[in-house]
Amino acid sequence: MLLKLRPNAVAEYAAGLPHGSMLVSATNGKTTTTRLLAAATRVAGYDLVTNTEGSNLERGIAAALLKGSRCADLGLFEVDEAALASVAASTRPQVVVLMNLFRDQLDRYGELETLVDKWRDVLDDLQAQSEPPTLVLNADDPNIAALGRGRRNVVWFGVDDKSHAIGNREHAADATTCRHCGAPLNHRVVLVGHLGHWDCPNCDSTRPTPAVSATKIDLTPHGQQMTLRYPGPAGSPVELAIASPLPGVHNSYNIVAAFAASWALADRTSRPQQAPAVARVMAETKPAFGRGEVVDVDDKQIQLLLAKNPTGVNQNVRTILSNPGELNVLVLLNDRTADGQDVSWIWDVDWEPLDSRLSSLTLSGDRAWDLALRFRYGGFDMDNVTVSPDPTKALDIALAATPAGNTLYALPTYTAMLDLRGVLTQRGHTAAYWSTDR
Ligand SMILES: [Zn+2]
Repeated sequence: MLLKLRPNAVAEYAAGLPHGSMLVSATNGKTTTTRLLAAATRVAGYDLVTNTEGSNLERGIAAALLKGSRCADLGLFEVDEAALASVAASTRPQVVVLMNLFRDQLDRYGELETLVDKWRDVLDDLQAQSEPPTLVLNADDPNIAALGRGRRNVVWFGVDDKSHAIGNREHAADATTCRHCGAPLNHRVVLVGHLGHWDCPNCDSTRPTPAVSATKIDLTPHGQQMTLRYPGPAGSPVELAIASPLPGVHNSYNIVAAFAASWALADRTSRPQQAPAVARVMAETKPAFGRGEVVDVDDKQIQLLLAKNPTGVNQNVRTILSNPGELNVLVLLNDRTADGQDVSWIWDVDWEPLDSRLSSLTLSGDRAWDLALRFRYGGFDMDNVTVSPDPTKALDIALAATPAGNTLYALPTYTAMLDLRGVLTQRGHTAAYWSTDR
């Protein structure tokens, strides 16, 4: 509505922010990273206007600005991958954080390659600003690294700790060829999907050395302990310990990205780094809606792990497997607009490691039977599997199979998450949640 009445609303409001805007975009992790960065910038003394409720298209950003720009001095916006061009053009950002591009809902976005090319045009356009933004880029994603190649004003971030490497690129890995010369890339270390330590055997493209990196990560049942390295005031590296309730190496990337962006902002606005305070508020930042959030249901718990695309689900499977004992799992697959209507991605998920650990598996959602077919082909013991397309019934079945004191791990697609959350709210287990965009 606002954009219809005032098509330039975003540009007008954003231009009034004394410290300008920061944008965060990625296929996976942008909501969590924006939450972490919001905490980090607030504790550093900025008055923030932000769209932390996941409304990440231009109209959501316009609504956030309308509500909060008058008393704010800095904008922080999570931006949908496909909306980056228009949001960047209207906000003229000071800091742009680009984290990863994975295959996701191709029916909506077109090929990954096209998206990378679009992002390159966005960065070229921003480079022409009188004050080009600082780019905070993931050195471990070859596509993102290619976007920063040859540019100034880049702060690279990454994960240096190799101890959580997986043997091979997963089925879901996307960026396998060099964007400079087209040769197949060599991955020395694979950490998440195609994120890792890489180089091109044919040209001089190689993983940039990150200025901000996780040098040590200990994953714990309740999150992680990280040692983070960043450039100190004299340029010499400084180490910082961060404890976080966010699980998995994919969240290590989110933490490092958020810290790198807060570092870049302080550098840009010539304010002192507030590293210990930032570490403290990050430790208090709990998982975002559905991203590892835990809900108490009587004498049991449900952990909600949003299932959007193969790389994200592979991370969730790794997180689930890191818990001891037999596992109870509920997977819900819908194919509505916000989920992506092509469900073939479930064939690219490495579900198989779950098989030997399962006590119960419940399959649900509009496309529950597609899941059943996938698990059957994966060689799962179908005697342990219950199929119930209705999410309310499926939840009851899965909870009944979960022993008291244990956790049910739920992997829903976006609209299935809203369905599940609706049932839990109705039963008084969670606070109501309102969201207008995906
Ligand atoms: Zn090359």
